[in-house]
Amino acid sequence: MRVLAIGECMAELAPAEVPGNYRLGFAGDTFNTAWYLARLRPDMAVSFQTAIGTDAISRQLREAVAGCGIGTDHIRTVPDRTVGLYLITLTNGERSFSYWRDHSAARLLADDAAALAHAMEEADLVYFSGITLAILAPAARKTLLDALRTARAAGKRIAFDPNLRPRLWSDMGEMTETIMQGAAVCDIALPSFEDEARWFDDADPEATADRYAAAGAETVVVKNGSDPVHCRQGDAQGTYPVPPLSSVIDTTAAGDSFNAAILAGIADDSPMEASIARACRLAGQVVQGRGALVPVDPARVDG
Ligand code: AMP
Repeated sequence: MRVLAIGECMAELAPAEVPGNYRLGFAGDTFNTAWYLARLRPDMAVSFQTAIGTDAISRQLREAVAGCGIGTDHIRTVPDRTVGLYLITLTNGERSFSYWRDHSAARLLADDAAALAHAMEEADLVYFSGITLAILAPAARKTLLDALRTARAAGKRIAFDPNLRPRLWSDMGEMTETIMQGAAVCDIALPSFEDEARWFDDADPEATADRYAAAGAETVVVKNGSDPVHCRQGDAQGTYPVPPLSSVIDTTAAGDSFNAAILAGIADDSPMEASIARACRLAGQVVQGRGALVPVDPARVDG
C-alpha cells in the first residue's frame, strides 16, 4: 500500500542542553504521522506532499524527509518562499511554542492542481488534516478538497485528522465549516474528543463519531487522551480502554503517532481492535519521550 501524507513540515528549534542553544529539527502534524508510519512499516511506500523554497533550509528539510525513508517526489518548490519555523521555549518544564509560518511555502502546497492530482494517483491512501486545510487560502483549499473527492471517487482511501487549531483560523465558523468539508471527503476520520467537544459541542465521543459518520466517514476513531478510544465502523460501535502509563512527559504528537498505527492497520486489513491497541502502545511510548519525533521501538508496538 502506498500512502501520501499532505501538509506542512516546519523547521523546529528546540532547547538544547546548553542554555540559550537550540537544536534544529523538522516536524509538523501530517509529517509526524508519515514519520511514525515509516518507522512502523519500513517496507511501505510513504511519501509526503508539501511545498518548500529553494534556499538552504528548504534543501535541508527535503534531505531530512528523504533520510527518514519518506518519498519526496511530490514536494513542490516555490522560489520566493521558505519553510515555516517554530521555536520551543521551556518555562519550568512546560513547553510553549512560537510560530513563524504565515508566509511559509507550504501555504502554496495545493496551488498546482495537476501535480496534486498526480501525487494522489500514485497513492492508495491519502492522509490530510485540519491544519493542512487551515494553512491554505480559500481557493487552494477548494483545489485540495476537489482533488481528494476525485481521488476518493477513483477508489483511493482518504484519511483525515480534523486537528482543530483555532489560532490558525481568523473565524471559528469558517474553521468548523471547513473541517466538516474535510469530513465529507474522507473514509477514515481520526478526531480528538477534547477539541471536538469544545468547537462542536459534542456531548460525548459517541456524538463525535456520529457526526463524522453522518458526514460520510465509514470509520471514525475518536481519541480522548488517557480516556477510552471510541470507534465507529459503519453501524458497529466500540469503546477501547487506553493502558495507563506510569509517567507522561510530553504529549506532543501523541495523536499523530496514534494515527500512524491506525493507518498501518488499515494497510494490513487488521481488525480495528488490534489497530487501536497498537495505536495506544505507540502513542504511549511517544508521550513518555520528549518532542514530536520520538525514536520508538516498533517491536513494543506489536505487544
Ligand atoms: P489525544 O490526541 O491527546 O487524545 O491522544 C492520542 C492518544 O495518545 C490517546 O488515544 C492515547 O492512546 C495516547 N495518550 C495521550 N495522553 C495519554 C495519557 N495521559 N496516558 C496514556 N495515553 C495517552
